[in-house]
Amino acid sequence: MAVDESLTKIIEKTVKRAKWKNLAIVEIGDPVLRKKCGKWEGQIAPQTFEKLVHAMRSSMLSKPGVGLAAPQVGIPLAFAIMEDHVAGGRRGGAEGELEEDGHMEKGGKRDEREFAEFPFFVALNPSYKPITSKKAYFYEGCLSLPGYQAVVGRYLDIEAKWEDEEGRERVEKLHGWPARIFQHETDHLSGTLYLDKCITRSFSSNANCQKFWFSPSISKAKKELGFSVQMKSNED
Ligand SMILES: [Zn+2]
Repeated sequence: MAVDESLTKIIEKTVKRAKWKNLAIVEIGDPVLRKKCGKWEGQIAPQTFEKLVHAMRSSMLSKPGVGLAAPQVGIPLAFAIMEDHVAGGRRGGAEGELEEDGHMEKGGKRDEREFAEFPFFVALNPSYKPITSKKAYFYEGCLSLPGYQAVVGRYLDIEAKWEDEEGRERVEKLHGWPARIFQHETDHLSGTLYLDKCITRSFSSNANCQKFWFSPSISKAKKELGFSVQMKSNED
């Protein structure tokens, strides 16, 4: 598909307006978050797309967030950006020692969330499939549902597929936290939010999550909020 001139113009304007501030993040309730996104076929002119990605990245980092999908900035096209770092021995409020492979450890115990270095990238037309039926359960949040988090079961290991900005097809096996990020962002592109997959009894404000449930393990939350999890998917 050729460049969509009118869409490019709108985005050029939006990015220009946001120059000294961040892009507005669309919040839950807006229909754009519930649409199946159109396939990315180069509808936004390359120079404008580059500026858009730059603005999306600075918006994501300022929140802070670890991923942002196009519909979250009002664009119903299938692409997302992702980025997470474990450097500095601190990640998402978790403190510990950084192992050589990038995983976190605290008091000799491996952080169960399995954070790993996930350098910035743009994923065009991403998709994933589970490699095993094993799932991991942890709290996660979304910039489109600010102020809340809930426990979501995500495949621990996936085969992630996407196209990069040069149009090359990329396939990678992802594990742990990066696999969770990829699933969350890719789900956005089919109109699915973590809210649709979460354990509703675990739903918590950020403040209460910090106060009561902040731990690499969800066992305390399970016991005190009264929910159980299925560590293996019964979908496959
Ligand atoms: Zn999200």
